[in-house]
Amino acid sequence: MSTTKPDVSVSLFARAQRRIPGGVNSPVRAFRAVGGTPFYTASANGCRLRTADGRELVDYVLAWGPAIHGHNAPEIAEAVAGAAARGLGFGTCHEGEVRMAELLCSLVPVLEKVRLTNSGTEATMSAVRLARGFTGRAKIIKFAGCFHGHVDALLVNAGSGALTFGTPDSAGVTTGAAADTVVVPYNDPAALAAAFAQNAGNVAAVIMEPFPGNVGLLLPRDNFLATVRAACDAAGALLIFDEVMTGFRVTLRGTMGVHDVRPDLVCLGKIIGGGLPVGAFGGRAEIMDRLAPLGPVYQSGTFCGHPVTTAAGTAAIEKLVREQPHAALSAKAERIAGAARAAAARKGIPLQTHTAGGMLSLFFNDAPVRDLAGVLASDTARYTAVFNHALAGGVFLPPSAFESWFISTAHDDAALDQTCDVLAGAIAAL
Ligand SMILES: *Cc1c(COP(=O)(O)O)cnc(C)c1O
Repeated sequence: MSTTKPDVSVSLFARAQRRIPGGVNSPVRAFRAVGGTPFYTASANGCRLRTADGRELVDYVLAWGPAIHGHNAPEIAEAVAGAAARGLGFGTCHEGEVRMAELLCSLVPVLEKVRLTNSGTEATMSAVRLARGFTGRAKIIKFAGCFHGHVDALLVNAGSGALTFGTPDSAGVTTGAAADTVVVPYNDPAALAAAFAQNAGNVAAVIMEPFPGNVGLLLPRDNFLATVRAACDAAGALLIFDEVMTGFRVTLRGTMGVHDVRPDLVCLGKIIGGGLPVGAFGGRAEIMDRLAPLGPVYQSGTFCGHPVTTAAGTAAIEKLVREQPHAALSAKAERIAGAARAAAARKGIPLQTHTAGGMLSLFFNDAPVRDLAGVLASDTARYTAVFNHALAGGVFLPPSAFESWFISTAHDDAALDQTCDVLAGAIAAL
């Protein structure tokens, strides 16, 4: 404790800002939403990060989701070392990619065939291209608040522009790139039906996070996923589940282990790389076989199916299969949510908590939060205060009210007790 050197992160961030835009290689790391200077991590083990300043933090960001076994799980570290000793990438076929594809297809219900990519963004980009190539149609329907990586055509949330042509959220995305993207509110069957009606015969696919996790965590109501499935079937459109975040996180079968609704294509990422960069997309063979070299839809990558990544990912997934931790992860999420609700109730502060498997989010809102509008109506200033109070108390929550918290198998009773205490104190101080 007495050895902390908070100036180290400050000086690293100053250097970073001179040579990296905003000082970061991915925007939310900059702590803009919560204020202050981001800390620099020196090492990570189990559920804790050690910062360059010498602090220890209980981590609920978990590398933005992948570290479901905690950081530096020995089985994964050994698999990585073993693979690295055999070579740092071949660019040829190798056994590890076959084993990983077989493992994914044996576990994820709709996967008959799967292609590995380097990121979730590449997976969703490729799945959309494949859906368009397979159906010969152009339009994609997405839901406001669902994030599918930084694919041009999907960087459209356009809440108010729902049911019109998409309006890009990012400069540099042309209206042309977004013109075939239609955005509707999540959990709104009437808006979805209207979008299909307005684009009759032209919808290639609906892409969705079945449980949106990039606006905090939202959950489907009134059988919404089955409604989406039926609408796709009626229109001859494909349904793409982007389970980059929820895959292997919510259950071993992702959201399909909670609601038995099956998409045509599923995108994976995060957890399936064991901490290394990864993505995957797959589905029925008749669709996947439209990819090159069998079919006309092109997709490729120098590093796709990298042997170190497939070794790490296979080790991470096999460990999940062996340990079946999802019920325990849910219980941990509920324990934290319960502590937060109790503290909020004592203080008379409205709070909604959502959990699914080892995911959790808090919304300071007196109404149920069901869609992006509900998320945006929440009190983010309260979240920011809680974030900073928790960080001071040694607990690293996501540096934005709009990010889900992640819990790992390595979060032990000591970490959870510390978290519940710190969180209760943070809410009491609001
Ligand atoms: C993280 C995420 C992506 C993007 O994955 P990257 O590996 O960061 O490109 C896509 N979709 C969802 C749902 C995600 O959570």
